[in-house]
Amino acid sequence: MPTCTALIVAAGRGSRFGGPLPKQYALLGGRPVLWHSLTALRAAPGIGRMRVVIAAGDERHYQASTQGIDLPPPVVGGASRQLSVLNGLEALAGEPPDFVAIHDAARPFVRPADIAACLDAATAPAIDGAVLGVALADTLKRVEDGNVISGTIPRRQLWRAQTPQIFRFAPLLQAHRAAAPLGAAEATALTDDAAVAERAGLKIVMVAGSGDNLKITTTEDLQRALTMETRTAFGFDVHGFAPGSTVMLGGIALPHVQALSGHSDADVALHALTDAILGTIGAGDIGLHFPPSDPQWRGVSSDRFLRHAVGLLAERGGRIVHLDLTLICEAPRIGPHREAMVDSIARIAGLGRDRVSVKATTTEGLGFTGRREGIAAQAVATVEVPRS
Ligand code: MG
Repeated sequence: MPTCTALIVAAGRGSRFGGPLPKQYALLGGRPVLWHSLTALRAAPGIGRMRVVIAAGDERHYQASTQGIDLPPPVVGGASRQLSVLNGLEALAGEPPDFVAIHDAARPFVRPADIAACLDAATAPAIDGAVLGVALADTLKRVEDGNVISGTIPRRQLWRAQTPQIFRFAPLLQAHRAAAPLGAAEATALTDDAAVAERAGLKIVMVAGSGDNLKITTTEDLQRALTMETRTAFGFDVHGFAPGSTVMLGGIALPHVQALSGHSDADVALHALTDAILGTIGAGDIGLHFPPSDPQWRGVSSDRFLRHAVGLLAERGGRIVHLDLTLICEAPRIGPHREAMVDSIARIAGLGRDRVSVKATTTEGLGFTGRREGIAAQAVATVEVPRS
């Protein structure tokens, strides 16, 4: 098995960060950002030794950030990121590993499994390295002359490169040595190690990682990571069948031999989801916001209830992470309508469809749902809200 040493670059001064400490030493959940990054690398299969590159004068911060982690002495970086990496590589060259995984200390959320996938890709035959990244989702605009948009850049084939970036050690060291004498203008364009490797003609592949692997750049990034907490709450609802020919479920009308009875459109799925979301912020239940005794809610479409709950959550600075719904009935069959229901709930709640799950079960003929007297729905909402 090839050896891979992690080289963690913690030499930046972070002029955009604005905190009292460089961002890699700032606290995130009671531990320095650098500590989190090292812990993630240590947990990744295939990563052996680790070495950190720091700025001269940061030794005290480094000691405080690496307590309990067995590391060789740090390497002092250079005048630019590129020269800092070169110093780190030269420090490893005496006992060179087969591969080196270069990682920004300011990316503490990297997943060990993604690091392992990147290493896997880097060690493939005829490949010199691999980079973790995500395909671009935003539209790219070119802006000139003040704020005037002068064009849209096609985003197909465009990715955001993250770290770790993992390379065969010897060719990367050579590439960095070759780039070291470049003038400032050329060197500034080499913003990551892959750019240095590409310049040397090395073959580098992109590995799909996670958007969570964000680089902490501003105190706002850190505040957000620090101050949001995850909450989960449950919702439950039942409506009985009545004469009719459609049931409303998840905001769509399903043809059926009966309808659901209720004060509103009796959409048991949206009611359970609404209660789950209200539960995450302790905002009571659907009956409190939309009393059945109030005639204005008679026959109303239940997407309104769900939107109201999502709005209350947004007012508190929160956002939905995931919605999971289980429908319990013998009929109608949910399977054929599952995808449409996911789309409908995602649209009403303002979410990507990958954040919505719809499941269904029967009760094997037992109980009121088994006797086809009605439909029950259970929902779990997971949200992020500002820490109270
Ligand atoms: Mg209800």
